[in-house]
Amino acid sequence: MLTRVQSAFKTGLIHALVAIHDAGVEHHDLCRRNILDYNDRPMIIDFGDAEEHECERFVPVEEGTPAPTLTCEFGCVELLEFFTDIEVWTPSFIEYIDNFQPIELAYDPHALAKMAPSHWSPEEALQEAYRVVVKHVKEYYPAQYDDWIARLNNNQKALDSTSNSPNDSQ
Ligand SMILES: [Zn+2]
Repeated sequence: MLTRVQSAFKTGLIHALVAIHDAGVEHHDLCRRNILDYNDRPMIIDFGDAEEHECERFVPVEEGTPAPTLTCEFGCVELLEFFTDIEVWTPSFIEYIDNFQPIELAYDPHALAKMAPSHWSPEEALQEAYRVVVKHVKEYYPAQYDDWIARLNNNQKALDSTSNSPNDSQ
């Protein structure tokens, strides 16, 4: 659908739709044919199904941050659904050993490793946690990749210096 649109176009589309909602209008027919490309700027047409709308969204729309997980957390169904469709947000979960875990755990491989099935050894679980975290950051936050990796390494050092485990010599 619209997932391959250029980033500037997407940003323009987000601003346009937020402005439409803030003006008290819900479009009700946000499909491809109603979003035109006018000199690389989005133009939204066909307000035939539009209705008055008091937008109750209570979080700002921040492109490239983890998605709100629930409609009630975001507050506006039309914007949530449309922005999810065009991939405004990054995933609100991280896939780890066949399960989806809350994205907060992607900041902490040690916490993520605790979610491993019991037949995984702690070492394997931690190794896999690092692997999926690195993959996730690389894919969804390429601009922050270096900083994130540095922070992971710092956390690792902090843990190592307070840990008494025999494996903390690396
Ligand atoms: Zn709204």
